[in-house]
Amino acid sequence: MHAIIEIGYLIATLSFLGGLKFMSSPKNAKTGNLIAAMGMVLAVVLTFIAAVSATVPYINLIIMLLAIAIGTVIGKRVSDKVEMTGMPQLVSLFNATGGGCAMLLGLVEANQMELATVILGNQILLIAGLVTGAVALTGSIIAERKLAGKVKDRRSKTVIISARLLLGLLFLLPVLYFFGIIPIGFTAFMYVLSLIAMIYGVLFVLPIGGADMPVVISLLNSITGIATAFAGFVYGNKAMIAGGIFVGAAGILLTLLMCKAMNRSLMKVLAGTFKKSKNGQVEEEQEIKEISISETALSLSFAQKVAIVPGYGLAVAQAQHICGQLQQLLEKRNVEVNYIIHPVAGRMPGHMNVLLAEANVDYSRLKEMEEGNENMAQYDTVLVIGANDVVNPAAENNPDSPVYGMPIIRTHESKQVIVMKRSMGKGYAGVQNDLFGLDNCSILFGDAKSSLLEIVNQLKLI
Ligand code: NAP
Repeated sequence: MHAIIEIGYLIATLSFLGGLKFMSSPKNAKTGNLIAAMGMVLAVVLTFIAAVSATVPYINLIIMLLAIAIGTVIGKRVSDKVEMTGMPQLVSLFNATGGGCAMLLGLVEANQMELATVILGNQILLIAGLVTGAVALTGSIIAERKLAGKVKDRRSKTVIISARLLLGLLFLLPVLYFFGIIPIGFTAFMYVLSLIAMIYGVLFVLPIGGADMPVVISLLNSITGIATAFAGFVYGNKAMIAGGIFVGAAGILLTLLMCKAMNRSLMKVLAGTFKKSKNGQVEEEQEIKEISISETALSLSFAQKVAIVPGYGLAVAQAQHICGQLQQLLEKRNVEVNYIIHPVAGRMPGHMNVLLAEANVDYSRLKEMEEGNENMAQYDTVLVIGANDVVNPAAENNPDSPVYGMPIIRTHESKQVIVMKRSMGKGYAGVQNDLFGLDNCSILFGDAKSSLLEIVNQLKLI
């Protein structure tokens, strides 16, 4: 039985690896997700079988079954209900459960270790898993609350200094404990550590804000992975070790990629130093040109080459399907249509790719930012649908702007830009967009879905 379980864990591990590989292309991402999920189901079943064959008390088996049932029902219901725009919050909550799980394992195992003689290395692993898990638990909950707009950024000195002090304690206390300077039992010590780590998780995330939140979520995801790997070492469970390492590595890579796409250093993100517009800075008055639905439809139909730049507003409006229809309609009229995708458009990496995949947009139509920028001058019309920060020329021209340095899609270099938005509302970074006042830019006010629907209807008549 032991050999079968080990082989099963190996298959589960390989499926995580295969799943990740498939997820590296949007086309195969769904399959990748399915493969990894099947691996996870296998790992859960094997763990249950291992518990049965180890003849653990019946009550434990019942608790395990209950946990599996409750987790399945809640996971299914929450995933069914979540809107695409709420995905980062959901990911954050999943992170919190992973971290909490690692922390609880640490507490449960501390009890066992206190009774038996165990090697120091295992105790250190247990502490590492417990601390990282507790930080991921509360940090992810605060991140979710902040993304939902329920908790505000707190950048006071008290918060920042307290966080640093607690971090110092998390390193110092275990050393003192192992030198016998803290005269309490291992379990009690673990409870103290978990409390400090949970408070640290809250203070760690509180000052971070603005456009940096998705980066922090990715980092917390990585921390959860590391916590799981530590727990896996304690149990000698290879699937847990491998799964944890994959999540940890993927999370940290994603974190660094996002930082690069936003031109922010990870240290600045963690220090909570999202640059704000200078206090009291008067925003330049912009002369905005409005454009109507029929003018937009005409302009699109007479163009030879059109680029669509989607952003967060496309997700809010759920306009991806009608956007796909517009593309097909234009193509029937021999207009070449491409989508130019900014790596941090929307609220999570790949957000736009997922939306467009939902609308069955052919991947060959999707161009990366660099390629789009190289050919920008060739586009007769660029339709910006609910994107704002990622097309703001201030990122290149205004060193005082909070978005300065972020690579952008240079829509202003095309012949004509039409921006679809509901109002003069700002983007995620909360800054004025210099694009809107430029001569070649017009704004089509209205909800993206309704406006696109009307454009499609007009195009059918032209
Ligand atoms: P954005 O700057 O947040 O702008 C979204 C725009 O959509 C707003 O101007 C809004 O204007 C418009 N909008 C909202 N609802 C709409 C609707 N129903 N119909 C039409 N327009 C609508 O979005 P973005 O250009 O995609 O930029 C993403 C931001 O998130 C960047 O600042 C980026 O750094 C940040 N971020 C993203 C990630 C990621 O992984 N994707 C990670 C970290 C940070 P109105 O209110 O006037 O309609």
